[in-house]
Amino acid sequence: MDERKNPNIHCTVDQCRHNLCSENYCTLAQVSIGTHEANPSVPECVDCNSFEKRSGCC
Ligand code: SF4
Repeated sequence: MDERKNPNIHCTVDQCRHNLCSENYCTLAQVSIGTHEANPSVPECVDCNSFEKRSGCC
């Protein structure tokens, strides 16, 4: 896993294996964003589709 943060992608999802927990940034070069709603209207409707569950702790 690439441990360098991407300063353009702030993220606090510690449960994701791509998250640099110590700094709350994503380590991917880019992420894929989508929605699970037919008509998204609030931030909760939007998802990071690049999420992958972390196997261990941060
Ligand atoms: S892949 Fe998505 S959920 Fe995971 S750290 Fe990056 S931005 Fe956050």
